[in-house]
Amino acid sequence: MTVAAGPTVLADVPKELFIGGAWRPAASGARLSVENPATGAPLCEVAAADVSDAIAALDAAADAQASWAATAPRVRGEILRRAYELIVARADELAVLMTMEMGKPLSESHGEIAYAAEFFRWFSEEAVRIGGRFGLAPDGGTRVVTTRQPVGPCLLITPWNFPLAMGTRKIGPAIAAGCTMVVKPAKQTPLSMLALATILVEAGLPDGVLNVVVAESAGATMGPLIADPRIRKLSFTGSTEVGRRLVAQSAQHLQRVSMELGGNAPFLVLADADVDAAVEGALLAKMRNGGEACTAANRFYVAASRHEEFATRFAERMADLRVGNGLEPGVQVGPLIDEAQRAKVTELVEDGRERGATVLAGGDPLDGPGYFFAPTVLADVPDDAAILGEETFGPVAPIVAFADDDEEGAIRAANATEYGLVAYIYTRDVGRGLRVAEALDTGMVGINRGVVSSAAAPFGGVKASGFGREGGAEGIDEYLETKYIAVDR
Ligand code: NAP
Repeated sequence: MTVAAGPTVLADVPKELFIGGAWRPAASGARLSVENPATGAPLCEVAAADVSDAIAALDAAADAQASWAATAPRVRGEILRRAYELIVARADELAVLMTMEMGKPLSESHGEIAYAAEFFRWFSEEAVRIGGRFGLAPDGGTRVVTTRQPVGPCLLITPWNFPLAMGTRKIGPAIAAGCTMVVKPAKQTPLSMLALATILVEAGLPDGVLNVVVAESAGATMGPLIADPRIRKLSFTGSTEVGRRLVAQSAQHLQRVSMELGGNAPFLVLADADVDAAVEGALLAKMRNGGEACTAANRFYVAASRHEEFATRFAERMADLRVGNGLEPGVQVGPLIDEAQRAKVTELVEDGRERGATVLAGGDPLDGPGYFFAPTVLADVPDDAAILGEETFGPVAPIVAFADDDEEGAIRAANATEYGLVAYIYTRDVGRGLRVAEALDTGMVGINRGVVSSAAAPFGGVKASGFGREGGAEGIDEYLETKYIAVDR
């Protein structure tokens, strides 16, 4: 399925708000335009909620909460399992849709869709494993009984860079745990989430459990929901800046909060690394999603004795990548999401250049419609370059050399950031890799791997990258409260 399928796939997606099991226009009649970042052309318009629509969505979620919590875990799990199968069966259509609204190449859209579906499969299996315990207190009389209950209606806010997977990573465990929800996808990429809602309906999800609102002004529309005590859980994936604001807002009603925020991942190539493997890993860690990933390797620290070999080969591979409209066969790198993002990337590269970095590949925005930027490698990047301190969110790899025997210095540099999401290490010595991994201030580390994401693993960060974990056995905990019942015989 390629370019030709675009109009049909687009026509099939509902373009209204999904509230209480019904598709409906915004109360105000407002609509917002969704654009294709590969062409800059509008794709379609979708309903744009105001506060009254958002409250209606919360009303529906609150009304459905008690019966959903009482629905058997097996039933909840089987709905997720059916939805998993439907996503897999519709992967071709979903991939075209995702590529049109977000820009990533079709192959990457397929990768995200498989990853997104896995969260539904994983949590369909977790739904029936929600345990409790029965214990004896030290006094020998009281019995300690614990049980797990759904936290209640959730507000789930997702970003544009992974329009489906950032949703299923929250919706999957919420459904499994017995929570109802209001989901707000990013306004730049609402279509994948609207398509997902149709799949969950077909899989048998009862009315009101999932409600989807798209909004022009996220802050104005979501603020009153966070200020509503019926929302018991806020899970957010997005920028650290917005995350900080939401944590402050959630303090009013002390909602449970999960924050999956920005990253500034270091990629360490130690002196004993297999450089071929490191180059392959670097391509994955840097270029997955065109660099627009919170897990994207943002800074490369390479042992001096391997620096030239690594930088030369990596730059060759980056320069060979085919950039273009992701719907065309063979394209490996799509556009950035919008002009603002491209301007930011351009500015960071310019700043590096002005401070003395050498451009080994790319270095500039590309002409034509759409927001393209050439895959770029910068060497000799000085410590004060802005690109080492900020999340680039684009196809740019800055490289810094460190003395072979100064592993401590490389670790210090890697940790010298407010972020702490993920780090990557290349070394042939697994013991050394584990030692360095333990010294890095991040929630996740890849050793000789350029990708860490897996539905079966706890994804999340420390420091300004947030808190809470998505996926793995931990993922469902974010949506459950532990209740302790003391029983005296
Ligand atoms: P963003 O600007 O923070 O937006 C994320 C979401 O929050 C969007 O749905 C946005 O809505 C909404 N939003 C914005 N302001 C809001 C407010 N005041 N109140 C409530 N909601 C608000 O981030 P982004 O640019 O879309 O995404 C990129 C960021 O996400 C990067 O920093 C990246 O690292 C991070 N990210 C983190 C992870 C992780 O798991 N740690 C994964 C993916 C991405 P609108 O778009 O409609 O304005």
